[in-house]
Amino acid sequence: MAELFYDDDADLSIIQGRKVAVIGYGSQGHAHALSLRDSGVDVRVGLHEGSKSKAKAEEQGLRVVTPAEAAAEADVIMVLIPDPIQAQVYEESIKDNLKDGDALFFAHGFNVRFGFIKPPAGVDVALVAPKGPGHLVRRQYEEGRGVPAIAAVEQDATGNAFQLALSYAKAIGGTRAGVIKTTFTEETETDLFGEQAVLCGGTSALVKAGFETLVEAGYQPEIAYFECLHELKLIVDLMYEGGLEKMRWSVSETAEWGDYVTGPRIITDATKAEMKKVLTEIQDGTFAKNWMDEYHGGLKKYNEYKTQDSEHLLETTGKELRKLMSWVDNDEA
Ligand code: NAD
Ligand code: MG
Ligand code: MG
Ligand code: MG
Ligand code: MG
Repeated sequence: MAELFYDDDADLSIIQGRKVAVIGYGSQGHAHALSLRDSGVDVRVGLHEGSKSKAKAEEQGLRVVTPAEAAAEADVIMVLIPDPIQAQVYEESIKDNLKDGDALFFAHGFNVRFGFIKPPAGVDVALVAPKGPGHLVRRQYEEGRGVPAIAAVEQDATGNAFQLALSYAKAIGGTRAGVIKTTFTEETETDLFGEQAVLCGGTSALVKAGFETLVEAGYQPEIAYFECLHELKLIVDLMYEGGLEKMRWSVSETAEWGDYVTGPRIITDATKAEMKKVLTEIQDGTFAKNWMDEYHGGLKKYNEYKTQDSEHLLETTGKELRKLMSWVDNDEA
């Protein structure tokens, strides 16, 4: 059974006694920095010269310095910039500013797990990852609630790294909802697998294949869009609330019967065998290496895929249709 930690298990005064640098002010960065400050923690934000986020952070009352200055001042350094550039910023601005007893924190284990960042032995290395987007993390904190988080220690130089991570999690509201203990390896590998095989990759491919099947058979794209994409949210909301059981309770018996007999014809043993291959390529570092090569090679294929899909009939149909849906919140309308 997973180990769970709540507010009573965490001592806020630990992080209140440290100097924290939040490097980056994006989705996670702004949420962490503001909530740490509101929890009485001494926090500064590290941003590169010319960063567009600088004015915003300062407007919100935070002190902004360069990443190197932030790392030098602080004894807890939380790295919240995009994963593919973390190693470079670490080499240029963080590494030489780490002293024994400092703590290097992450919200995703990618760079440490695959060896792109190799912290020195005297430093605590830990992970505090809210299981939700940064804007929700901040909103929940302001409302007196929290987004559940996971925490892990990769290197416990001081012997207190996990208590420090829990204290940090408490300061951003994580222990209000519950913090699950994990490892860098488990967090990184399951995160990559989940987003590739199920959440993003698997779901996008399933929706596209279903949509194409209906349209190629002569049905209207608008109807196919509703059936294969729009209604997915309603189904997933039910699963989120009560698992497969609640979803199946809510849909018709006909839909439930179709679920049982057709689902396994779509996601077959071959699909699961491919999932295992995908997982192996994540575990052995093949995916991470290929992705970093693609990123630092100028994102050529990435941009090709992006353009291809934005021109797909599913997307162009949805774009028009959503304008007509007064009940869908979107910023295109
Ligand atoms: P983001 O893309 O929203 O933020 C990027 C920020 O990095 C920008 O505000 C920018 O100011 C800063 N930045 C860019 N280049 C920089 C540089 N050279 N030097 C200093 N700062 C620079 O990033 P994010 O989505 O918040 O992700 C940050 C980390 O959190 C990642 O490790 C990610 O895996 C993890 N994470 C994100 C989420 C999420 O909700 N987005 C959830 C869990 C974990
Ligand atoms: Mg994830
Ligand atoms: Mg991820
Ligand atoms: Mg239907
Ligand atoms: Mg039913």
